Amino acid sequence: MDHKHKTIKDRVAPVLVFPLVLTLSLCSVWLMLRFGVHEGIAVFAVLLPGALLIAVLERVLPYRQDWNQSDGDIKTDFLHMLIAQITLPRLVKPVWLAVLASSVGWIGVHFENGLWPHDWPLLVQVAMVLLIAEFGRYWVHRAAHTYIALWRFHAVHHSPNRLYWMNAGRFHPVEKVFFLIPEMVPFIILGTNVEAMSLYFVFNGIHGMFQHSNIRVKLGWLNYVFAMTELHRWHHSKLVRESNRNYGNNLIIWDLVFGTFFWPRDREVKVIGVYNPDYPKGYLAQLKAPFQGNIDKPADYKQRPGYYENKIREECGVLGNDKVITVK
Ligand SMILES: [Zn+2]
Repeated sequence: MDHKHKTIKDRVAPVLVFPLVLTLSLCSVWLMLRFGVHEGIAVFAVLLPGALLIAVLERVLPYRQDWNQSDGDIKTDFLHMLIAQITLPRLVKPVWLAVLASSVGWIGVHFENGLWPHDWPLLVQVAMVLLIAEFGRYWVHRAAHTYIALWRFHAVHHSPNRLYWMNAGRFHPVEKVFFLIPEMVPFIILGTNVEAMSLYFVFNGIHGMFQHSNIRVKLGWLNYVFAMTELHRWHHSKLVRESNRNYGNNLIIWDLVFGTFFWPRDREVKVIGVYNPDYPKGYLAQLKAPFQGNIDKPADYKQRPGYYENKIREECGVLGNDKVITVK
């Protein structure tokens, strides 16, 4: 009995937990929309219990016990979640609508039902939303790891020393606006329907929380489809050669296409985070961090010039596209 219980927890649960929760969430939001629930309420009504369930699963099926210990980061992550994930999209949407009004109007005049294939099966429509949004997000994300000016904002997301579900919401508001462009603009122009977008946002929310979670997920061949934990942990590695990989937000397809897919099967990620041991932990300090000089370099850089740069060279062999801001 005990052995059987262990088998289920060790072998079956890691394989099934993510596909099951995702399917259940998508079906729930679809049903609510069918019954006429407002899309904003329906999405929230799925993501909130989803978040609670994922938090519980981190305790039941942890990947690393030490990542379940708070690092004084919960209040900061709660504020990030509230502002970047919940408030900002609602503020930004009317701006996009106003900016894009003329092009949407032009399409409306020339194409009776807009450009979106509303009569295609809903799952195909959701897959299309995912592919289009992921393409844009891939390049915004890759640029954030390539150009120091953008990395300054993205470093907020990479600054924690542990991975748990709330990291999914940890984004600087300036960067979040850039990420919201590929997630919203193409679909406003194409006239994508509320149903497909609601399913996308539920997919995105559940996947994002699982992706950053401390749950022992094992997806097997599905790691060539989803950008799930087994791949995304490498993206949070402190080593640049490991972290400048797996940029996918929900799907890993664009990493496969553009050669940044990374999945070592013989080892686990070691240390995650940024090189600066003094990276600020408070919410307001993190909002200010991109505008300050000492963003991702050690506070003692003046005493030890080039120390962290050399450390990266030793560990990675190269300094290209690295995360350290070299201060002259
Ligand atoms: Zn990143």
